[in-house]
Amino acid sequence: MSTVASQVEVPADVSLPIYMDNHATTPLDPRVLAAMMPYFTEKFGNAASRNHSFGWEAEQAVETAREQIARLIGATAKEIIFTSGATESNNLAIKGIAEMYRERGNHIITQVTEHKAILDTCKRLEKQGYRITYLPVKADGLIDLDDLARAIDEKTILVSIMAANNEIGVLQPIAEIGRLCHERGVLFHTDAVQAVGKVPIDVIADNIDVLSLSGHKIYGPKGVGALYVRRRNPRVQIAAQIDGGGHERGMRSGTLNVPGIVGLGKACEIAREEMASEAAFLTGLRDRLKEKLEANLDYIHVNGSMDHRLPGNLNVSFVYVEGESLLMGINDIAVSSGSACTSATLEPSYVLKALGLGDDVAHSSIRFGMGRFNTQAEVDYVADKVIDVVKHLRKLSPLYEMVLDGIDLSKIQWAAH
Ligand SMILES: *Cc1c(COP(=O)(O)O)cnc(C)c1O
Repeated sequence: MSTVASQVEVPADVSLPIYMDNHATTPLDPRVLAAMMPYFTEKFGNAASRNHSFGWEAEQAVETAREQIARLIGATAKEIIFTSGATESNNLAIKGIAEMYRERGNHIITQVTEHKAILDTCKRLEKQGYRITYLPVKADGLIDLDDLARAIDEKTILVSIMAANNEIGVLQPIAEIGRLCHERGVLFHTDAVQAVGKVPIDVIADNIDVLSLSGHKIYGPKGVGALYVRRRNPRVQIAAQIDGGGHERGMRSGTLNVPGIVGLGKACEIAREEMASEAAFLTGLRDRLKEKLEANLDYIHVNGSMDHRLPGNLNVSFVYVEGESLLMGINDIAVSSGSACTSATLEPSYVLKALGLGDDVAHSSIRFGMGRFNTQAEVDYVADKVIDVVKHLRKLSPLYEMVLDGIDLSKIQWAAH
């Protein structure tokens, strides 16, 4: 593979490497760290210790965090269950409901572009005799609500559809999904990890019964998350998957991660206060990046709906360029690509394939995940660099040459390999 000697100059106000992979994880906000610090040191109590002030102090901090999280999503504090992150929240939601409502039915509906924490959980339940429907998505990444309505039957106990996709940033119509579920008497869970704190979510208005969220996707710490479990209309019951001291209303035993929980609470408070201004800022950065790329490169393709999308997400295929080569050419920018990476296989992203993209287009994709700490100067540098490297790689691409010469690649008979 050839290395690309880029000519792009680094402006004085940009320091490398640039982090633009905020869907994988976000940096900890310094205000969150400051809130957490005392709970590592002098305020070290166990929130379950009822007999002394060390315990009371920790419990008070945990209850404040519960309030902060609840307020962000329109819930009440008692409806928040702390977990180790959204992978656990998703497991607890789906397995806990499947077990608790087994008498009522064994059918669960989800969709093909969910996170692995949902898909692999559903696969395990399939082995245990549950029936799972994986709804397809349209070319823009959204599910068809008619497909959902048709899939619900008398055995359906749960619908689990993510609020925002972690690769393409597409926002599903969760309020409509929630309304449909409630009309049909089916519980609605949403993996809202990418959406919480980025776009408004209200568990009452959106008819959400169970919701997963995670600290490290919203400028909080890693290893802490929460599950919202509705207490009224309807009261949702979840079978514990970890047994022990009966913490968290018996749904999730284990000593609480007090500093992590304090950080998650603070992260939610900041997100609630700054969501509107931050969304406007990130939409501006994202549209600027998109416009620069489109103005300077041909054969590029934005993956997923632009109308129903997270503010900070841009997922672009640079056709006739190999994603891995592009990543290598822009190795001073942290982004992720739709090829290989996440698995040992060379399969391109299952999310991009679900949109109907061919392997080549999926392989040439880059996910730009802009966040709170990115700047316009960084976006400008990223755009210039990507444009430079893509142009260079395409000069070396025989396919691109053929396309410019007017040859229709789909009509070519390639030798078998
Ligand atoms: C990151 C992510 C998860 C997993 O969350 P963890 O807290 O890292 O376990 C689940 N779903 C989505 C959509 C995610 O982006």
